[in-house]
Amino acid sequence: MTITNVIVVGSGPAGLGVAALLDQSDIDYLVLEKKEIGSSFLKWPKNMEMITPSFPSNAFGQMDLNSICEATSPAFTFRKEHVTGREYAQYLNAVAYYFQINTHLDTEVIQVHRQNESWMLHTSQGPYFCKYLIWAAGEFQNPQIKNILGSQHCVHSSFIKDPEKLEGTSFVVVGGYESGVQIAFDLINTDKKVTLINPYQIDDANTSDPSRVLSPYTYPKYDKLKNSPLYSEVVDRVISVTKKEDAYNLQLEDETVITTEERPICATGFSLVTQPIEEFITYTEDGSPKLHEETDEFFGHKNLYLSGPSVRHGDHIFCFIYKFRQRFGVIVEDILRKEKYEEEVISVLLEKWKANGMYLSDLSCCGDECVC
Ligand SMILES: Cc1cc2nc3c(=O)[nH]c(=O)nc-3n(C[C@H](O)[C@H](O)[C@H](O)COP(=O)(O)OP(=O)(O)OC[C@H]3O[C@@H](n4cnc5c(N)ncnc54)[C@H](O)[C@@H]3O)c2cc1C
Repeated sequence: MTITNVIVVGSGPAGLGVAALLDQSDIDYLVLEKKEIGSSFLKWPKNMEMITPSFPSNAFGQMDLNSICEATSPAFTFRKEHVTGREYAQYLNAVAYYFQINTHLDTEVIQVHRQNESWMLHTSQGPYFCKYLIWAAGEFQNPQIKNILGSQHCVHSSFIKDPEKLEGTSFVVVGGYESGVQIAFDLINTDKKVTLINPYQIDDANTSDPSRVLSPYTYPKYDKLKNSPLYSEVVDRVISVTKKEDAYNLQLEDETVITTEERPICATGFSLVTQPIEEFITYTEDGSPKLHEETDEFFGHKNLYLSGPSVRHGDHIFCFIYKFRQRFGVIVEDILRKEKYEEEVISVLLEKWKANGMYLSDLSCCGDECVC
């Protein structure tokens, strides 16, 4: 049995990043990881790169977009802008090693229970107890194919590690955001035909927020796709998939049927890994976990926090590292205040975190759009 003040579940960027701030106070904390550090990134397709560029701009007060803590930069480590999943996992390992982040590996949290003022975590390595629990289990390990009847006939894009090795000459891809465009691009590059189905026009952008529209990294690929004779695009919604002998039929909302010989590829997104804490989550209308805006605690559950890409407040979507890292400081501040740390100590830490883009409490500034 292990008892500690704070437990962080998950050693991806969201878990390690918040742990790096906890480490700067003298509070007891532990990170629990079901496999190894950065395991989601190790599962990325071989050639997949971060879409957010890295640049070692830290010294001028603008942290590398993919850094999770001060004085670190994947761009500096790898001397490139777009690191692969494997490289990013190496970066996370370097951070954990350098800052001696207290991490228990091969420890899967199976179920979480409330016990008076504590959290009891039933794990693959026995029980753990803590007062504050930070959930940072990520999304990548929970791929979603929602609202498509017969989805068992499809394959989720995240399971395709080597698109160029897929057998077949013609594929249907469902979903036209980052992953869908990326896999369509990879397939076309190996001379396969692709039909991409998406409910709206992909380049119909009325916002500059890359959480809603294709990133500048992926747009040029989409432009190339559109000009390829191997590519076609259908604006519609897939309702169901049926399999008959050697063919798959995709029924669309407008009653068109698209037939393909290969398993349809669904690039239909991911959602937060929730099973061990499901009973503590209330959902908003858009399907995201309802959180207290001031602290990122799950609605109605004191001392249970969410860190990572599923943090959402109204229209503000924190799905990239450079966005969600700004909430690390908000969580740790709340814990330090509850633990009655001296105001002077807290304000020194907050100043440092603000300077490094690790602390954003006033969300009124996040809605600004680029004008040109
Ligand atoms: C395909 C894809 C591409 C992306 N590209 C970018 C990008 O370029 N830039 C960007 O900023 N963001 C990108 N994102 C967003 C991305 O989700 C995050 O930036 C990042 O991976 C989230 O970090 P995380 O720590 O929340 O999750 P993860 O990296 O998934 O880490 C969660 C960790 O929790 C562990 N875990 C899960 N369940 C348990 C459990 N029960 N017990 C113990 N441990 C557990 C997992 O093993 C894992 O190590 C991308 C997302 C996807 C899906």
